[in-house]
Amino acid sequence: RLARFAALRDQPSETLDGVRIALNVNAGLLIDMDQLQSSGADGVGLYRTEIHFMVRPRMPKIDSQTGFYRAVLNRADGKPVVFRTLDVGGDKALPYLRIESGENPAMGWRAIRLGLDRPALLQSQLRALLRAAEDRDLRIMFPMIAEVSEFVAARAILERELERHRASGAPEPRSLHLGAMVEVPSLAWQLDELLEVVDFLSVGSNDLLQFLFAVDRGNPRVAGRYDRLSPPVIAFFRHLVCKADAAGVPISVCGEMAGSPLEAMALLGLGFRNLSMNAASIGPVKEMVRHVVLTELTSYMSGMNGAQERSIRDCLGDFARRHG
Ligand code: PEP
Ligand code: MG
Repeated sequence: RLARFAALRDQPSETLDGVRIALNVNAGLLIDMDQLQSSGADGVGLYRTEIHFMVRPRMPKIDSQTGFYRAVLNRADGKPVVFRTLDVGGDKALPYLRIESGENPAMGWRAIRLGLDRPALLQSQLRALLRAAEDRDLRIMFPMIAEVSEFVAARAILERELERHRASGAPEPRSLHLGAMVEVPSLAWQLDELLEVVDFLSVGSNDLLQFLFAVDRGNPRVAGRYDRLSPPVIAFFRHLVCKADAAGVPISVCGEMAGSPLEAMALLGLGFRNLSMNAASIGPVKEMVRHVVLTELTSYMSGMNGAQERSIRDCLGDFARRHG
């Protein structure tokens, strides 16, 4: 199997009816960047910057951060990288930062909440990213956005940093794209406003489903209780893709779902064309992509719209078997 997936490395990620599907890797360590090249992925759809902060005894200084982000971009060798700003708090502790996150850390003081309340941390990270990018493309996304105003406030911090950066005479990024992670369900009811201000969206299905079902993603007693292909999830995603497509805003999925071939197939059938996953999943997901006739899958899935009481997993499994 491994040899079969390795042979797919240089094959295009394209459905049988010729639709190109972008397959990206999730990364968090420099060594993950080697897998970007060895897996044949298109780029890094989610770079979890917090790992660099978590493995150090002290807060990394700006120069050290800059060097690190530059090394990531160098290793990407021109392929796109989406840096996610710090998602600490919750279950991700920093040894040098006291974070009181309360009894419900996942819903506590974490990610962009902490970034906006303690802007020095976010500023230093954005400054380092701007310095590291130099003449290259820079893509940044903010985690755990729950209201459009949080994205706007984070963007304002970036704009101030960009002005400082310009004033210093340093080379600017060739382009700058700013996105939001969709992982708090409240965003579904602000999509029109959100889509006006973002350059792209990335669905963090791990947190999104945790909050959609009110089920702790780390608690084995409940984590597997609700199927990721159940009707509310499908309806939710359909709504997201419809809105993003209508607004012409790129949307991707970077949670674990994207790395499971059957769930990734469901995402394609809903209209997603960009998935990001652990490097080990690139082969299996690409194999699925190359066996799918997208028009058939899409009409099959729209045919089941609304008629389902339970997960579409079995139906999709049947579809996959019938279509080889
Ligand atoms: C997610 O929530 O789906 C996600 C990709 O982010 P993380 O797993 O780092 O919380
Ligand atoms: Mg998340």
